Amino acid sequence: MMRFATSAIHAGQGPDPATGATIVPIYQTSTFTQTSIGVHQGYEYSRSGNPTRAALESCLAALDGGGHGLAYASGLAAETGVLSLLAPGDHIVAVSDLYGGTARLLASVFAPLGMETTFVDDSSPESVAAALRPNTRIVWVETPSNPLLQMTDIAAIAEIAHGAGVWLAVDNTFATPALQRPLDRGADLAVYSTTKYIGGHSDVVGGAVVVRDADLAERLRFHQNATGSIAGPFDAWLTLRGVKTLEVRMERHCRNAAAVAAHLTGASGVAEVIYPGLEGHPGHELAVRQMRGFGGMVSVRLAGGVSAAERFLESLEVFSLAESLGGVESLACYPARMTHASIPEAERERRGIGGGLVRLSVGIEDIEDIVEDLDRALREAGRV
Ligand SMILES: *Cc1c(COP(=O)(O)O)cnc(C)c1O
Repeated sequence: MMRFATSAIHAGQGPDPATGATIVPIYQTSTFTQTSIGVHQGYEYSRSGNPTRAALESCLAALDGGGHGLAYASGLAAETGVLSLLAPGDHIVAVSDLYGGTARLLASVFAPLGMETTFVDDSSPESVAAALRPNTRIVWVETPSNPLLQMTDIAAIAEIAHGAGVWLAVDNTFATPALQRPLDRGADLAVYSTTKYIGGHSDVVGGAVVVRDADLAERLRFHQNATGSIAGPFDAWLTLRGVKTLEVRMERHCRNAAAVAAHLTGASGVAEVIYPGLEGHPGHELAVRQMRGFGGMVSVRLAGGVSAAERFLESLEVFSLAESLGGVESLACYPARMTHASIPEAERERRGIGGGLVRLSVGIEDIEDIVEDLDRALREAGRV
């Protein structure tokens, strides 16, 4: 068994059987020539299977200790694949603090199809247990969550879900398998937007699901092929290139984010710093138990509210004001009007997404440049 960083570079990525190419080639082909009817080397048509995608799928499966990986066109395509295991009349329990697109998918696509979701505000095992119904089929959690970085106890929720014969899916996009492996803690499905840290360079949109159960993998694979929600060869190749450095990037993201969180705590104009690595974070002890590092995301509530947030975000120079996260470059966003704009305003206000809340995806630049940029933007934001 190769260890994590070795798997990231080698799992699924042996020399190319046709040429010996050391790096898995981009098999940019839709079809594969057969020598006789049905006689081929395992590939027939690239929706059903493609060697570049297969390499990525094997690598991601290895990183999560899964056995079965599937690579999709986007994170939301991956989520759609998972939710399509359900049938009308089935019920979903999900944490409230979710990626905005996930909340929208549940409420505006799957609910009208007859799959209702109960959202639970606090993701404690007791609240999740109380929301289960006889027709619940899946529990969906995101930890750390987006954008409030709440922590959910994967092992405790897995026990409750399994006691009720229900699957547990964990959106592990923020932590990645470098910091947290949901399947090791009992989850049935690890779900990713590979657009973020796994790809890591803000140059590709993709998604993935990793599972241990062969039957579950088979059902997901059937749906992936039947609906065509696959990652293309070039996207798979870019993601594979990114994932090779996942562990070293995550180490640096964690180090820089911890420094940012410490620096901003108590800084003038900052009302609250939310980071699981801070001892005052309500999920800190759980994060210590469940994660190998606290991640690269830091959320900050500015004392001056929305106008301060606006000036702060406009003044940043090292940070780009942009949607998305998890790239090597630092990104900042205003969740209420960007990533979480698809959530109704009243719901956002209730959950504390608005006002002065900004979300930072701390990149792997020199920490001095990151801190100087934040300090300068804070000074601008404080100027009336
Ligand atoms: C971005 C994101 C998604 C959606 O992924 P796409 O690749 O944009 O479709 C899902 N979950 C989380 C936590 C995300 O950050």
